[in-house]
Amino acid sequence: MIQELNDAQREAVEHDGGPLLVLAGAGSGKTRVLTARVAHLIEHRNVPPGRIMAVTFTNRAASEMRRRVTNILGCEPAGLWMGTFHSVSARLLRREAHRIGFTPQFTIYDEDDRLSLIRRLLKDGGYSPKAYRPAAIQYVVSQAKNRLVSPSELREQAEDDVQRVAAEIYDVMGRVLREANAMDFDDLLLHPLTLFRDYPDRLTRYQAHFQSVLVDEFQDTNRAQYLLVKQIAEKNRDICVVGDDDQSIYGWRGAEVRNMYDFQRDFSDAQLVRLEENYRSTSVILDTANEVISENMNRLGKTLFTSRVGGDLVVVTATADEGDEAEWVLSEIVENVTKRFCEYKDFAILYRTNAQSRPFEDVFRRNVIPYQVVGSVSFYARREIRDLVAYLRLVVNPADDQAFIRAVQSPRRGVGKTSLAFVGRMSVAWNRSFFSTASVADRMPELQPRARSVLLDFVRMIERLREESREASAATLLESIIEVTDYENYLAEEGLDGADRIENVRALLDGAAEWSEEEDPEDPSSPTERYLTAAALTTSADHAEGDPEGVTLMTAHMAKGLEWPVVFMTGMEDGLFPLSRSMETQEGGEEERRLAYVGITRAQDRLYLSWARARRRSGQLMPGMPSRFLDALPPGLIEERRTSSVFGDFAKAAASVPVGWDALSTVNDENESQDSPRYVRGERVRHRKFGSGQIVDVSGKGRHLKVVVSFDEDEVGPRTLLAAYAGLERDWESA
Ligand code: ATP
Ligand code: MG
Repeated sequence: MIQELNDAQREAVEHDGGPLLVLAGAGSGKTRVLTARVAHLIEHRNVPPGRIMAVTFTNRAASEMRRRVTNILGCEPAGLWMGTFHSVSARLLRREAHRIGFTPQFTIYDEDDRLSLIRRLLKDGGYSPKAYRPAAIQYVVSQAKNRLVSPSELREQAEDDVQRVAAEIYDVMGRVLREANAMDFDDLLLHPLTLFRDYPDRLTRYQAHFQSVLVDEFQDTNRAQYLLVKQIAEKNRDICVVGDDDQSIYGWRGAEVRNMYDFQRDFSDAQLVRLEENYRSTSVILDTANEVISENMNRLGKTLFTSRVGGDLVVVTATADEGDEAEWVLSEIVENVTKRFCEYKDFAILYRTNAQSRPFEDVFRRNVIPYQVVGSVSFYARREIRDLVAYLRLVVNPADDQAFIRAVQSPRRGVGKTSLAFVGRMSVAWNRSFFSTASVADRMPELQPRARSVLLDFVRMIERLREESREASAATLLESIIEVTDYENYLAEEGLDGADRIENVRALLDGAAEWSEEEDPEDPSSPTERYLTAAALTTSADHAEGDPEGVTLMTAHMAKGLEWPVVFMTGMEDGLFPLSRSMETQEGGEEERRLAYVGITRAQDRLYLSWARARRRSGQLMPGMPSRFLDALPPGLIEERRTSSVFGDFAKAAASVPVGWDALSTVNDENESQDSPRYVRGERVRHRKFGSGQIVDVSGKGRHLKVVVSFDEDEVGPRTLLAAYAGLERDWESA
């Protein structure tokens, strides 16, 4: 293992204690260093795996790293704290929950739970969710939490109405979450800090416990994450962080590159190691990447070279529209596969927004090319999965009001909105959970007799399941839930759609049956609770749909840290990549450029960039101009092409600003107009009456194409619509 490291890498791996910052460009082996260092600590410095904390950006990256460490060591590093910040924090909090006013059974609210909670609180507070969009409120609250701003501070800083209301919701939400014995994603990062502040002895304990702390992708940590590792490592001071300021792409989610500077200030004896050799890409690709990023002002500055001098030129292709672009990508893939002996899994197609996967999926499906889409929708975001998980949550944690609200309504059993709202009011008045309020429904004459008996039956059912849960595994419990609720029949009644959902339910059961985790002797929670934790922390980035041996489709954001022999960066048009919304501020513009840099540096051997002269956006064909990032490319590194559908040469197209509508008539719009709308799961759409929402399911074809849209408005909820008549508009920007 040590032979496969260069001198600088080896220095970082063998560095003997003391803070260490590895600052290095893409593909220079940062992740490899981190992995090797974990193995080195275990093998050569006799650090027990349970006393090492290694944090990565996604669960996928964490399991990959664990696999590599296992390979190097030749055995499982049992007890290793390796995972995302959220999963590591959750593990810590399960042990400490009782100290900060929770039980170890606490539920983790994901983004959807939090959004509907915010919607509920807005209504309780007399605010219309139309005037105060829950998503906007959530954004403000989450940003505040990430920056460790308290509700009262947020109120003082508030500059407009939305921010004032957000401060109020933030305040109420803290209490409501606590009463529900629940934490949202931000809380998972904040509660450890609160614990350490209020119980310094706990901090001392973890400081003594963790001998070594390591962080990958350090440039994308937020304030709370940084403070967490900083505090834990402050005593032993064996902390190794690796990152690349040029790849900081989560500023919009509260990540702060400033942490890289602060690290050097907070650990003033930190050793800085630079890795300058890129092992991933050809020099053509690397030079292209450097040209693109060189236009940013705010950079720490690094050197990067590769010994893979030369390589195929970067192909920049002008295409007619998104369908033409997809056809072109397909033909290049087929050519590479036949002439260069590539495999489908050697290719990645990257784009700026999830909605852009659609034309590629269509073309691949038509031509029977294997592919997988990563991150467009999380398995656990599906309606049927959320329903069943809600039951499981409620069984484990009766205070989980969001789970109660969901479970009691699906399958429908005759508790209407009015009854539910009444139970809600009573639960606030009595300061009890929905579940406990419902358990005395017989004492509420205000409820219809039917609602009363349904609620009592429901409560009894959950209690029986709870009895069972003491013995049963998550999988067995899920089976019981499906049985007592007659859930499969409920789905079967939905016809074809239902059949797919039943498949998903079976996949959930299989997953739960296979699910295993190593025991943490200090973790007081049950296997079912840990299963729920894992489910809640599984993000869309961890979920791929399709053939794992096929072509990979994902957003540039998701591609961080990964690599493929051949990479297509598609949709390189101004307004799309860079996304116009992000260009409003200079920081946003620089972040878009870093994102382009991340995308380009994923390629090992060949890089293709493409843009379309027209693209359907919000249902309309819009003219497009090549991305400003393409302007930066030096002519010597690129080969310009255009598809046969594009008239005029590349230079002319680039110069005509904007491309006139007459130029667009060359686009195959005759075929297109006969084309029925096409949608993909995960895509954001807008409906005239129901407002914005997300497509959660697509079925049927042509005029019979049906989509299920989960609308943001609670009253609307999920709706099945015939696409041909629904008049849906694509909600491009929020995609
Ligand atoms: P990114 O910034 O994209 O996250 P990184 O700096 O983490 O990249 P790695 O993913 O660790 O880089 O490494 C990039 C590629 O180079 C990997 O395929 C890795 O196996 C390979 N590599 C790293 N170091 C060496 C080395 N010393 N010898 C040979 N190959 C190496
Ligand atoms: Mg990496």
